[in-house]
Amino acid sequence: MVKRCSKCGQEKPVTEFYGHPTRGTSFACKECHKAYIVNRQHRLREKKKAEWELRNPGVPFPERKRREEKQVEVVRKAEFRKEKYE
Ligand SMILES: [Zn+2]
Repeated sequence: MVKRCSKCGQEKPVTEFYGHPTRGTSFACKECHKAYIVNRQHRLREKKKAEWELRNPGVPFPERKRREEKQVEVVRKAEFRKEKYE
């Protein structure tokens, strides 16, 4: 059984799609789906970077791992509270 991928237009076996083999398979094949995820992550990062540059002009966007980004966010919030109540 083959299914046509709506992204690349190629007919591929249903095993090349995620999801149930006959019902509810994703519209794009695994390859296109992966490309979509990577592209989405890239766009999100670009967006974050643009926001960072707006808030922190002249400060290079930190190339950090996700967990470290969260810690920075916690520290920033704590500092904000300190400023507010001191
Ligand atoms: Zn495809």
